[in-house]
Amino acid sequence: MADEVRLTAEERLALYGVRRFIGSELEDKLKLRVRFDVYFQDPLVAAADAELAFDDGCFVEWEPELQDGPTSARFAVVDYDGHTETLTPPARWDDEKNGFFAPDGTAVDRRYSDVPQFHHVNVWAIVQRALDFFENGFGLGRRVPWGFEGNRLIIVPHAGPGKNAYYDRHSKSLQFYYFDEDNERVQTCLSTDIIHHEFGHAVLDGIRPHYIEAVLPETAAFHEFMGDLTAILIALRNTAFRQRLIKETGGDLSKESTLSGVAEQFGKYVQNKPYLRSARNSLKMEDVAGDQRPHYMSQVLTGAMFDILVGLSKYYVEKRGRTVPQAFWNTIQRLQSLAIQPLDLLPPVDVTFKDYALAVLRNDETASPADPDDYRRLMLDVFVRRGILDKADRDALLTPHHVFERLDLDVFHDVNAIAGSRADAYRFLDDNRRTLFIPSNADVIVTEVCSAQKLTREARRLPRQITLQYVWREDVVLQGPQFGRFDGASTSMLCGGTLSLNQSGDVLAWARKPGSHPTGTRPADAAEQARGKARLTAFLEALAQRIKTGRIGSVLGGDRGLLIQSTPPLTSHTIDGALRFELSPHFGIHDDRDDPEGGRAWQISS
Ligand SMILES: [Zn+2]
Repeated sequence: MADEVRLTAEERLALYGVRRFIGSELEDKLKLRVRFDVYFQDPLVAAADAELAFDDGCFVEWEPELQDGPTSARFAVVDYDGHTETLTPPARWDDEKNGFFAPDGTAVDRRYSDVPQFHHVNVWAIVQRALDFFENGFGLGRRVPWGFEGNRLIIVPHAGPGKNAYYDRHSKSLQFYYFDEDNERVQTCLSTDIIHHEFGHAVLDGIRPHYIEAVLPETAAFHEFMGDLTAILIALRNTAFRQRLIKETGGDLSKESTLSGVAEQFGKYVQNKPYLRSARNSLKMEDVAGDQRPHYMSQVLTGAMFDILVGLSKYYVEKRGRTVPQAFWNTIQRLQSLAIQPLDLLPPVDVTFKDYALAVLRNDETASPADPDDYRRLMLDVFVRRGILDKADRDALLTPHHVFERLDLDVFHDVNAIAGSRADAYRFLDDNRRTLFIPSNADVIVTEVCSAQKLTREARRLPRQITLQYVWREDVVLQGPQFGRFDGASTSMLCGGTLSLNQSGDVLAWARKPGSHPTGTRPADAAEQARGKARLTAFLEALAQRIKTGRIGSVLGGDRGLLIQSTPPLTSHTIDGALRFELSPHFGIHDDRDDPEGGRAWQISS
């Protein structure tokens, strides 16, 4: 290339330090971003359709400490197969040549996609790009922590035989299994959708670590929604894919389209519905009420977000006169901030679809209070139609109100002081328990305090956002035959809140999950306690239901830290003499088939 810039290692390092101000095109020129070959979907789609074989837009930020593996600041690929007990050599990084190489010196790229090191780089580059999707200003505008101690998520591309892939917090890893069908080996580490789905679990576990203690089926379903949403939103960023969709649908996204069948490899090989088909459905909350299958239930919310995508695209075409490709791309860009930024506003425990819908609307309101195009009414209508919000919510949200309010605190704390550390944030909470509805005896813990710099879709900087998550445990004794072998045991119900402020101290959102104990004598305290009591009832009912259907096991994990093939949806273990329940952080490609209501497809050892 004539315009190639040659940099010394020192010069590249210096530029790396100021890369935020450079802009992506110059970053490419300066080799601060490196393009890697990855499958757009998977080898089967690649074989069937050359145009959609590889993704030409997978760029990863160069890092000074990139190493063999690949190993980067946040990920480490370790190719250990627990079944065959083999460790495959890592892909070798060559900083000079700016690429990864197989042990024999072959460049790792699309020409040699059968080489195991291509698999390593494929899955690594995809999660790197997905992490950036969450962390950049159009997303959360901050670093995403993991849900475990340590900064590197381990990626096991060939973990062993099985029709599955997992995110597993305890082994700090994403594990991808492989299986043979029709004389073909199917590698889940080469399926982009599966990688994105699992990675969605990892991100959600990082930013909301208590969701994994979910007893409510809806919270488990939200975890699944996050996986599918990640897969859908990133797939739609691919230009070739969008052009294909437009061509095949004549521009009408509500028609049957390739989007409904993107996970083609698994559509072919696994009897169960491929999960990306969940985007197009007409399920409402009433259809999934009482259901305990998280994948099935998640479709209501995935479907709602897809309705919003379709609605916005249509609006851009009909009211703004954009061409279909422009409208579609603008919508996809908008969906990133619209769907990802609200995650910061979610409560720390027991999230429901309604919590997410309210967070989506609130995030949009704080970013663009005037809403001249009435986008929020469009979204609101979708959520009401799906039964996620009701008419009363709609009326309340459409009533004119102040966009920003401040807390009427007992003891003033400056926002910057609150954001200083968890200890500072705790003193703010403790000084203001009365205002914040925190019972005086609750041992409240600040689980996260973070500061974010989010952007609007037009790349306008929003005021800095400070978010504080806090929880406490309310002791609960399980009493009655409905709790089976747990009758008489102590456990706890998680309570808490997420308070999000901008740098002027305006409340962006305050999502609370109250306890059942009194917090004071004002009418607002009584209302809060009533909500807490309703939560306790729902918690106990959900637990009894899960016990009745045999959905709680005690053992997680097989030999050598690998997850066994069939894990119970919920596990129990004892911490400090009290029971804790925890979701099995796994994704079964065929969950819905093996996970029928009341069925027992896993072994319980007690
Ligand atoms: Zn999942």
